Amino acid sequence: MDAFDYWGWLLRFELPAVGWITLTMFLIGTYILGGFLREQACFWLCPYARIQGVMTDTQTILPTYDVPRGEPRGKLKGGAPSSATQGDCVDCFQCVQVCPTGVDIREGQQLGCITCGLCIDACDAVMDKVGKPRGLIRYMSFDEMAGKPRKTMFQHTRTWVYVGIILAACTGIVWGLTHLGSLTLNVLHERQPLFVVMSDGSIQNRYEFKVLNKTSADFKVKVSAEGGIPGQTLIGVEENPDTIHGRSTSFTVFVRAPADKIRDEVTPITFQIQQTDNPSVVARYDSKFYAPKR
Ligand code: SF4
Ligand code: SF4
Repeated sequence: MDAFDYWGWLLRFELPAVGWITLTMFLIGTYILGGFLREQACFWLCPYARIQGVMTDTQTILPTYDVPRGEPRGKLKGGAPSSATQGDCVDCFQCVQVCPTGVDIREGQQLGCITCGLCIDACDAVMDKVGKPRGLIRYMSFDEMAGKPRKTMFQHTRTWVYVGIILAACTGIVWGLTHLGSLTLNVLHERQPLFVVMSDGSIQNRYEFKVLNKTSADFKVKVSAEGGIPGQTLIGVEENPDTIHGRSTSFTVFVRAPADKIRDEVTPITFQIQQTDNPSVVARYDSKFYAPKR
């Protein structure tokens, strides 16, 4: 079942049972993830947090709590710190309250942080109220907090490594898109039975062809085979099959071979389909021809 068929059947309420079961499972799964698990899905199920975690280092600029300035934290008493050594953090928990993933950024940079910056805004508002300078939570790196000189983005080795990876990935995608063939062939060999012994002693294998026509026009294809058994014949495709544009078309092909020419239990065979009115449009698929033990 392809996407067009699925939508057509769904809109006509004619989906087969497996279609309804799949749809229901997706609906229930989405409701559980979005309605109940929410940020827990980001923490425990989404691989992005893990990928992001390994991509950062002490030079990475992220929302960071300024530990030397904020600690030791403590509430204000009568509008003033309770001790001379008290840091700027007034322990109001505003940064935790606004965090969509429930992170306490004062415990350090964490996997759950999605770098939304809401804790920065909340803390700046608190600092304004208590008359302290803004930036107790701000975008900075651990190196910067430790007093090391701040590097620009392009002074980071990692930046160049990531740029290289992205360029390689983009090159691969462009190459893939520009080298897409107009036809894709998939051949499934019938497993039960692997072969049939015909009344004249010849051996027959059955194959299910799936031809994806990626062009905007219907056309016929010629089916042929290379390799296999000398004297083999292809049955079922004497008349060139039609393929429908933008769709996958299935048809069955039998390969029948004289028993006296078969040398091995398994013989490689390569199927080829070719557009009848444009022989340059070709697709191939490597398969096997099975026979009884010799
Ligand atoms: S940047 Fe956003 S996600 Fe990260 S700790 Fe602050 S509020 Fe939470
Ligand atoms: S909002 Fe600022 S002052 Fe309040 S607890 Fe967070 S870091 Fe401390």
